[in-house]
Amino acid sequence: MYDAILIEKSAGTSHARLTQIDDAQLPSGNVTIRVAYSTLNYKDALAITGKGPVVRNFPMVPGIDFAGVVEASENPDWKPGDRVVLNGWGVGETHWGGLAARARVKGEWLVPLQAPFTMRQAATIGTAGYTAMLCVLALERHGVHPGAGEVLVTGAAGGVGSVAVAILSKLGYSVVAATGRPAEAEYLTRLGAREVMDRATFVEPGKPLARERWAGAVDVVGGQVLANVCAAMRYRGVVAACGLAGGMALPITVAPFILRGITLAGIDSVMCPKAERLEAWARLARDLDVHHFAELTEEVALADAIATADRLLAGQVRGRIVVPVAPELDGE
Ligand code: NDP
Repeated sequence: MYDAILIEKSAGTSHARLTQIDDAQLPSGNVTIRVAYSTLNYKDALAITGKGPVVRNFPMVPGIDFAGVVEASENPDWKPGDRVVLNGWGVGETHWGGLAARARVKGEWLVPLQAPFTMRQAATIGTAGYTAMLCVLALERHGVHPGAGEVLVTGAAGGVGSVAVAILSKLGYSVVAATGRPAEAEYLTRLGAREVMDRATFVEPGKPLARERWAGAVDVVGGQVLANVCAAMRYRGVVAACGLAGGMALPITVAPFILRGITLAGIDSVMCPKAERLEAWARLARDLDVHHFAELTEEVALADAIATADRLLAGQVRGRIVVPVAPELDGE
């Protein structure tokens, strides 16, 4: 029997609990993995609390990420003992996920643990960090390079935001971090932000075009914040949009697009093709300083992940939550 968080639905309401599952209950898949570390992302918190329609079928083991060791494989790409990482692919939404001691998935969803990361470090990065890197790659692809001007990161003290600040500053960008938590200003400065702005500056409805300031932006908030960010992009600026922490709606005009030629680049980590995932992980190994890991990471036991979900959705979690399921596997 394996420890697992299980979300069940009864009378129209979903409920998460810590329980035990056995091998026969694991879903179909050709690779079985002993999970060393899982994580808690925004999407996992929505799934666990039932506050967002993340889970597509019940019962469901949540957890859109894990890092672990292959136990059994019928896939020629993987053999027992291989260290692997999974991010997305609907795991934790339509297919049982990583908040359990075992996972069974399709081999093509896995990527090898990127050297020199430990499994704990790969979990610290997780979907949030790999998405941050996809955002940075999108800025680069659209021509925003260090020296182009200031780059804004919204929701900066959260998971995606923290990693984005750290990567961009290491690459030499002039990073401005927007946060609703002024108490985290020192943390963001340590990650490399040149300036920390109050989120309040971005939340009120603004004009279709504002003073040009940002050469690039990474936005995790959406809603009015993203609209205001777009309005303040410099000529040909680029916004990488990946999140909805502040809302799904986008109350925007076409003015920044047709008068300033800005680009709004949408980022999806879930179905991102494997080649781009491998590129993102390789770049993370190069462009994310490992000395940031300690303060990026909060460890939460599997049994406490359910309670932590509320804290995460309330915007009270700094950086990333990792869930040690079998941390001893890192040392084997
Ligand atoms: P976190 O909860 O760690 O961070 C979100 C941050 O957004 C918070 O820390 C807070 O930052 C800010 N925030 C929260 N609520 C609001 C609000 N109402 N208005 C404005 N800002 C707010 O989540 P993640 O970093 O893991 O994920 C961030 C977003 O990105 C989520 O919407 C998530 O679903 C999305 N995402 C999308 C992916 C994709 O593939 N497209 C992949 C990963 C995440 P602060 O306190 O600093 O203001």
